[in-house]
Amino acid sequence: MFENLKELPADKILALMQLFRDDPRDDKIDMGVGVYRNAEGKTPVMRAVKAAEQRLVDTQETKAYTGLAGDPAFGDAMVEMVLGSAVPRARVAAAATPGGTGAIRQGLELIRMAAPEATIWISDPTWPNHPSIIKHLGMSMREYRYFDNETRDVDFDGMMADLGTVAAGDVVLLHGCCHNPTGANLTLAQWAEVIALLQEREAIPFIDIAYQGFGDGLEDDAAATRMVASEMEQCLIAASCSKNFGIYRERTGILMAIAPEGETVRLTQGTLNYLNRQNFSFPPDHGARIVSTILGDEALRADWQAELEEVRLGMLKLREQLAEELRQRSNSDRFDFIARHRGMFSRLGATPEQVAALREKHGIYMVGDSRLNIAGLNAETVPVLARAILDVGI
Ligand code: PMP
Repeated sequence: MFENLKELPADKILALMQLFRDDPRDDKIDMGVGVYRNAEGKTPVMRAVKAAEQRLVDTQETKAYTGLAGDPAFGDAMVEMVLGSAVPRARVAAAATPGGTGAIRQGLELIRMAAPEATIWISDPTWPNHPSIIKHLGMSMREYRYFDNETRDVDFDGMMADLGTVAAGDVVLLHGCCHNPTGANLTLAQWAEVIALLQEREAIPFIDIAYQGFGDGLEDDAAATRMVASEMEQCLIAASCSKNFGIYRERTGILMAIAPEGETVRLTQGTLNYLNRQNFSFPPDHGARIVSTILGDEALRADWQAELEEVRLGMLKLREQLAEELRQRSNSDRFDFIARHRGMFSRLGATPEQVAALREKHGIYMVGDSRLNIAGLNAETVPVLARAILDVGI
């Protein structure tokens, strides 16, 4: 049996991590994998997470199964955090999932059950897991233009032209904030245009929001998602708690499906429960309970928000420092996009040869498409990167 298996393409980012580990240079810089790191290069456990875990150790009386959709307190807390008061709770079907990836997977399976012929539209470029899961599920997929390699901003005209050809019932996957891998994002005015176009085309938006709180703040980062939820009759939202709570390995996420009225919501909720049952039965609970404990306690929530804000502002400061350093050294403003981008990533727009030269000559590791993780830097390494970027001719 197993001899029939075919070699699968290796994960590029994991392969890059291995190369980094094998590099003997002391001054090497890792800007590859999508994990937040502080100035010391650590991915710390957040204070409120530690406190919530301690509280769970002290007070939790059972680890018996939860419901198929996870702990309802987690569902309610996440709907509130992501959607605010954009839609009545009764319009939202929600199920906890293993991370944001699990939410995307369950969302796609839900679409496959409801509309097997639908094409899923993804941004070019996007997080590679999107196309890989869609392909794995045997669903049809198309790309819409998203990134302008000249300006390093969103190619909004190209995007609108491509979305203008979407068929009724197709699904358009959009990043709610902090686009991965580019860092380039739509303005709210542009979101309003996208929403109007999707309404006109009778398409369904599927929002992937994995970095709420990493861009312009918890509320601002959710603004586009909330606009979509309140203005579209139906939509899907996959939210991840990996980054904003720093609980990557706990596998904490949620899929929300918004429908216009009670009976459809009930049907959708039943199907989400069914899909969880088929794929893994009950979703992981530890991370979800950390999140609901924090969000449900005023002091813990305030402390978590303060720490998340420190993380966000630290990354913004590095962006500004890097843009300024490059402005000075290149005597031009062509790198100002780094300060305009939001979230953990920026796409530099470099060639694969330039990316390879950064790695070989300077020990600077970034993904082959020239995505750099801003959180891989600190105040000392910013000038080193700036010098190297210009040295390899970017
Ligand atoms: N969507 C995007 C765009 C991401 O970058 C990530 C994290 N790499 C996720 C979803 C989901 O992450 P996780 O499964 O770890 O929650």
